[in-house]
Amino acid sequence: MKELYFLRCRECGKKFANAPQSYCEECFSPLEVSYDYEALAHVAHRGALAHRAFNMWRYAELLPLRRFHSYRSHRGHAAGQVP
Ligand SMILES: [Zn+2]
Repeated sequence: MKELYFLRCRECGKKFANAPQSYCEECFSPLEVSYDYEALAHVAHRGALAHRAFNMWRYAELLPLRRFHSYRSHRGHAAGQVP
C-alpha cells in the first residue's frame, strides 16, 4: 500500500518518510504532515466518514499512523481506551 502521508519541512520543503521525527535534518525547522491527496481519495470517502461517530477515529484514514488502522477495529471502544 502506498503511503498516504509524509513529513515535509516547513522551511526548505524537504520530504521525509513517516517516522517519529519532528525537525528537518537539513535546516532544523519543524516538520508537518502532508498528504498525497490523490492516493487518499481512493481510501477515504466523504459518505463513509459521515456515518461515523464524532471521535478521532472518524478520520482514521487521515491519522499519521504507521500501519493502517481500520475504523471497524476501533468501533465500540471509548475514547482513551487502547483497542
Ligand atoms: Zn528543512
